[in-house]
Amino acid sequence: MHDVLLVGAGPAGAVAGIVLARAGARVRLIDRATFPRDKLCGDTLNPGTLAHLSRLGLAAGIERRGLRVDGMCVTGERGDTIVGRYPGGLSGRAIVRRELDALLLQQAAAAGCEIETGCAARRPIVIERGAERRVTGVIVSTAGGDRSMDAPVTIAADGRRSTIAFGLGLARHPAHPRRWAIGAYYEGFLHGMNAETAESAEGVCGEMHIRRGRYIGVAPVPGGLTNVCLVMPSHAGDEAFGDPAALLARELARDPLLRDRAAGARLATPPVVLGPLAVDVDAAAIDGLLLAGDAAGFIDPMTGDGLRFAVRGGELAAHAALSALEHGWTGVADRLASARRREFGGKWRFNRALRALVASPRAVGAAARGARLVPIALRAVIARAGDCDAAAH
Ligand SMILES: Cc1cc2nc3c(=O)[nH]c(=O)nc-3n(C[C@H](O)[C@H](O)[C@H](O)COP(=O)(O)OP(=O)(O)OC[C@H]3O[C@@H](n4cnc5c(N)ncnc54)[C@H](O)[C@@H]3O)c2cc1C
Repeated sequence: MHDVLLVGAGPAGAVAGIVLARAGARVRLIDRATFPRDKLCGDTLNPGTLAHLSRLGLAAGIERRGLRVDGMCVTGERGDTIVGRYPGGLSGRAIVRRELDALLLQQAAAAGCEIETGCAARRPIVIERGAERRVTGVIVSTAGGDRSMDAPVTIAADGRRSTIAFGLGLARHPAHPRRWAIGAYYEGFLHGMNAETAESAEGVCGEMHIRRGRYIGVAPVPGGLTNVCLVMPSHAGDEAFGDPAALLARELARDPLLRDRAAGARLATPPVVLGPLAVDVDAAAIDGLLLAGDAAGFIDPMTGDGLRFAVRGGELAAHAALSALEHGWTGVADRLASARRREFGGKWRFNRALRALVASPRAVGAAARGARLVPIALRAVIARAGDCDAAAH
């Protein structure tokens, strides 16, 4: 019998598993995929995420293999461009998720987690007594058929479309925002903007190009590839999502700042479409169950900090699991919810304010002009978006 069953071996699940196994818990970590596997993402670890992984002793391979990211470049509809370096010599890393997630999973195995891939959770096992519910494990399907996996603690770290959170009625797609993402890797995408703006011989800048009702993230990744992610509302033309390669090509070709850079580029991978992106999740107060990473809720990838919520959220869930194993479930869900609010509440508010600002192209222009006049304000925003405060602690 394992102490903790972790469903999902992405960053949240792997980090939770590592923290638990190091504390002596017997951990079973399952994932429906076999690794290495791809995951649509902007592939950028911000400085706060990298510092956190470093504190856990998990960053060495990532620092070696990733491209150093020294800051952010944000552009607006009318060509306004804001470039800001992270303060105090802090940096992040651009690394493809296929590689990042495999590196973290290797470290989970080294920490002592028992890992089973190609094993999909179908539904949680729930015992109901009156109004009370307790999760005692999950039903999984593998090549060998369906079976149950039981554990005193189940942590759902199975991502945005969490089978566990949706299965228990804890998760739903809100009416707003309703956006979809299309992402792909390109070969031959010109990095003129990065060469001009990185202000450093080695590092690159993450790029966020904010346009009316949509945005495009661009990140050079190792191997000469460029990650391009377009996020837009579905009402822009549902049928367009049927041919994501054509949609991506059209959006790049009509963009005044990106069209020349994309002109000679070739798709290195077929585009992947995800949506609707936002998922609201009620903080689980069901004994036996904890949520971590995107399974605990996801809004929008614009600020590029989902990996910090996953890594730190995985660690917080692991501490909650240890407390439940030692002292029982009373107060565990409340304490985890308040730890998450303490840790993430300020950033959630900042992200909401930033999303409201960039919803208006005029506001982006005004912010660009303001940033030129008061560069210190810009540096503060870039530092906050990059979780540099978390990196400094
Ligand atoms: C377009 C886009 C761009 C983004 N860009 C960035 C960025 O640049 N920087 C950043 O910090 N964040 C970014 N994010 C957010 C980031 O990708 C997520 O926050 C992060 O992946 C969350 O990690 P996780 O471990 O919670 O979930 P995931 O990484 O999704 O991992 C979940 C795992 O669970 C497994 N799983 C799912 N269902 C089951 C099941 N039923 N049974 C078993 N296993 C299952 C999956 O196979 C997967 O391995 C972006 C997100 C999107 C959509």
